Amino acid sequence: MTLQPDVSVPTMIDPFGRHISYLRVSVTDRCDFRCVYCMSEHMTFLPKRDLLSLEELDRLCSAFVARGVRKLRITGGEPLVRKNIMWLFRALSRHLQSGALEELTLTTNGSQLKTHAAELAACGVKRINVSLDTLDPAKFKDITRWGDLRVVMEGIEAAERAGLAVKINAVALKDVNEHEIEALMAFAHGRGADLTLIETMPLGEIEGDRTDQYLPLSVVRARLMDRFTLEDIPYRTGGPARYVRVKETGGRLGFITPLTHNFCESCNRVRLTCTGTLYMCLGQDDAADLRPVLRANPDNDAALHLAVTEAIARKPKGHDFIIDRTTRKPAVSRHMSVTGG
Ligand code: SAM
Ligand code: SF4
Repeated sequence: MTLQPDVSVPTMIDPFGRHISYLRVSVTDRCDFRCVYCMSEHMTFLPKRDLLSLEELDRLCSAFVARGVRKLRITGGEPLVRKNIMWLFRALSRHLQSGALEELTLTTNGSQLKTHAAELAACGVKRINVSLDTLDPAKFKDITRWGDLRVVMEGIEAAERAGLAVKINAVALKDVNEHEIEALMAFAHGRGADLTLIETMPLGEIEGDRTDQYLPLSVVRARLMDRFTLEDIPYRTGGPARYVRVKETGGRLGFITPLTHNFCESCNRVRLTCTGTLYMCLGQDDAADLRPVLRANPDNDAALHLAVTEAIARKPKGHDFIIDRTTRKPAVSRHMSVTGG
């Protein structure tokens, strides 16, 4: 008698006892911006034929939901530039309706929000992250190379009108926006939005030198404490940000500090690329290619679940990001837009 593989779908617990309940999906590596810390200006993107179809992405995401993923973030690249992306949101919203999924959310540069905000809300999306590193139009152009601040502002307003809670994400960049943090905070908190600051991470080759961009958030925090009262709060969104309440504004401020203090010990996530590669850590190269398994087994997910189980068993303890003058190479060669930020 041949033994059949175990087709049950157990929840995902990695070798360090971490329960995986959060999946981030990069639905495209393409983008309509070229942010200086994220991409080089002349990127070679994946050939379109390598991409999973939206139906395949839905199948993969649904398999993860069956394995206990409660939070799903659609990201990229710029997720809203993927053709017909709203089909995927509509499809995935069934898991919100059934209660299997707690949250379906999105990280976006905001350029297409004006068009899609209302439908995102109709699909059950409640909160979105919008990346915004500066409020200065000229600086915005310098950072994003191709972006237009006015369009992003209109997108944020459209999202708010649609009833989406907007969180502003800003990468803290030395000499670029380091003196604008208070202004960004006033902007976000003034409209009832959270602001989260992110340390730049050594992912993929870019034109500039990351040492020139890197601004430790420990420095930002110390500076803010000269002028504001920051009270640690236990608020969590399922991600690595640690939050404070700014007493003077009443708003929440988050810090994502992969360099100065990583929180790998509580990592609850894995990341899927638009070609079906599963990365168990943002900062490590090990991955599992789920696309051949998916395509070889169109009618049932048993082999897929087996491949996922094997991958989770290899989830590393953490990343080893370093940015200094002696470590000039990125920790991994792929850009954030591939793995999904
Ligand atoms: N295009 C969308 C956006 O910009 O929000 C989604 C993808 S983008 C890769 C997700 C987030 O990653 C953005 O907030 C961006 O600022 C951040 N990011 C990109 N490259 C980064 C890097 N090297 N270090 C830290 N954050 C980075
Ligand atoms: Fe595009 Fe987002 Fe990367 Fe900027 S950070 S280039 S918007 S993927």
